[in-house]
Amino acid sequence: MLNLKTFEVWFVTGSQHLYGEATLRQVDEHSKMIVDAFNDSSEIPVKVIFKPVVKSAEEITNICKEANRTPNCVGVIVWMHTFSPAKMWINGLKILQIPLLHLHTQFNRDIPYADIDMDFMNLNQSAHGDREFGHIISKMKMGGIPISCKVVVGHWQSKSVLEKINVWSRVAVGRFQMKTMKLARFGDNMRYVAVTEGDKVAAEMKFGFEVNTYAVGDLVKVINQISEAEIQTLIKEYEDTYQMMPSLTSGGAMRSSLIEAARIELGLKAFLEDGGYSAYTNTFEDLHGMRQLPGIGSQRLMAAGYGYGGEGDWKTSAMVHVLKVMASGLKGGTSFMEDYTYHFDPQNEMVLGSHMLEICPSIADAKVKCEVHPLGIGGKEDPVRLVFNGQEGAAINVSLVDMGNRFRLIVNEVNAVKVTEEFPKLPTARALWKPQPSMEVGLQAWIMAGGAHHTVYSQAISTEYIEDLAEMLDIELVIIDKDTTIRNLKNELRFNSVAFK
Ligand code: MN
Repeated sequence: MLNLKTFEVWFVTGSQHLYGEATLRQVDEHSKMIVDAFNDSSEIPVKVIFKPVVKSAEEITNICKEANRTPNCVGVIVWMHTFSPAKMWINGLKILQIPLLHLHTQFNRDIPYADIDMDFMNLNQSAHGDREFGHIISKMKMGGIPISCKVVVGHWQSKSVLEKINVWSRVAVGRFQMKTMKLARFGDNMRYVAVTEGDKVAAEMKFGFEVNTYAVGDLVKVINQISEAEIQTLIKEYEDTYQMMPSLTSGGAMRSSLIEAARIELGLKAFLEDGGYSAYTNTFEDLHGMRQLPGIGSQRLMAAGYGYGGEGDWKTSAMVHVLKVMASGLKGGTSFMEDYTYHFDPQNEMVLGSHMLEICPSIADAKVKCEVHPLGIGGKEDPVRLVFNGQEGAAINVSLVDMGNRFRLIVNEVNAVKVTEEFPKLPTARALWKPQPSMEVGLQAWIMAGGAHHTVYSQAISTEYIEDLAEMLDIELVIIDKDTTIRNLKNELRFNSVAFK
């Protein structure tokens, strides 16, 4: 798992020379105390680095340059304890290449009625200092300079401020990883499918990640080099971790399928590790030289943090990895998912989410079974897979689609329900959920927004993460939640078509 403490967020306090040494020293001391509190709190997952107060355009430009070239610096928190004339910030903000969080706080929580004098007033001016800063951000954005900035308001010790900084820092790490990640495709897209296609060059320009295709034969070569000893060790791990179907146990009729599945998992892992890949795709239409479609292998690689997309879906695969990065260490799982079939009972409408094989066991409720069954399509040997029910609770479905002239992110908030029914003949992992605001409106909105059948399904992160990500990437975001109405959504899509022209 990724250690988020290896990433830095800088804390920069703006001011000017006007105030004199003594006041500026106090500004520094207060900032240091805030940074220490952030680093001591369990809420903020990254390392927060204190930077001495900046007082001039030169200092501001220099600190922006330094942040850009510091490895592992994923974002900058700015705060105007005093008044920092914002023209001093223009050149720095123009070149800053990492996201900003504008913390609108003040050192004291309360007005000290009995003691307040003009010295106090001159030191604690963020109420107007931060307005000056917010103005220049807003104006520069309007002028076409794509500054990513999340505004967080409240006292720095409050739970809600810490939580918002937590979300933003996790997303900043996700965006940082997205910028440099590499994705391997084994084979191309599933034939004729539209939504899994897209412009990989435009994606690299926008998001930074590279997508390159390998012949399945290149992977098969690595799979065939896996030693029997490694396979036996992995099978032991399977047996220790999952409830094995009798035919897969030692001496069982399908034991050879388990051996093959372990070989495939180890081959995939070796290929990805060798090439520095953090995500991949494959397709059942192109498995030349492989005996089964990877099932348990893809499921377990996802659980280890790799991105995965079925049928060549590289956009969803990249997003699975990025969301897993953001969710590092959080409760709840994140998986590749597909809206598969519906329950239209008017008393209990639900979506059944699943895939042919590749659902990540991080979303499982207690029991994970290891089974082997025929696939029905693809004409290969029966693949081994993990079968389980998804956990109940709030979740989001996230889709990244290529609309031709731009990328669009779509989120639907859903509530997963406890799976109480038996599925004696369904040989795949599955989850049941109710879309917001209702089955009818949620599905209609998703279809009108052009959302894919593949999604990233996450119970670890909330819509706020995707909002922050869309801000950092400067892309269109359509949110389908409890407040969505079709009438408003129609207008939103219509307005966005102009805004993102
Ligand atoms: Mn699919």
